[in-house]
Amino acid sequence: RSGFIAIIGRPNVGKSTFMNRVLGQKIAIMSDKAQTTRNKIQGVYTKDTAQFIFIDTPGIHKPKHRLGDFMVQSSINALNEVDLVIFMINAKEGMGKGDQFIMEKLKSVNQPIFLVMNKIDEIHPDELLPLIDQYKDELNFEEIIPISALNGNNVNHLMDVMEHHL
Ligand code: GDP
Ligand code: MG
Repeated sequence: RSGFIAIIGRPNVGKSTFMNRVLGQKIAIMSDKAQTTRNKIQGVYTKDTAQFIFIDTPGIHKPKHRLGDFMVQSSINALNEVDLVIFMINAKEGMGKGDQFIMEKLKSVNQPIFLVMNKIDEIHPDELLPLIDQYKDELNFEEIIPISALNGNNVNHLMDVMEHHL
């Protein structure tokens, strides 16, 4: 199995940390520099049974000026070219305005979307289930998966589930 995976989410939710964990420090940091094309390959992770091609899709956030709407839409369109979209949020902070903006835009994406709730090392397990229940109704997410990109908790599970969708 092989496929393209886009990772989106507002700043500081942990996208780079996740990439670094999966791909290794070097690749993710290097590719952070150039964000010129619509879909930029960030790194490729290959294991015996699957190949994950991670894509960086910059520009999906609330635009500061009207011209920005076009760029946001262009980035959203790019998501329809990948096989799977990871929408990452901060589990501790929950869905804020910035996340809601992205989620609204994701309604026009036809590919499977995984909601990844990162930073679960910062919340009590009892707080997690009600949140997952709540987010189930927000959008037709293919999967909702809590992880800690920082300590690696549940990251392998996420990779396994992703593999089944490639
Ligand atoms: P990005 O802007 O989405 O790429 O976010 P970064 O990967 O740069 O992470 C932003 C901050 O959150 C950094 O200080 C990370 O160390 C921290 N961070 C990322 N993942 C986790 C996590 O799972 N748990 C905790 N506690 N902090 C995290
Ligand atoms: Mg980053």
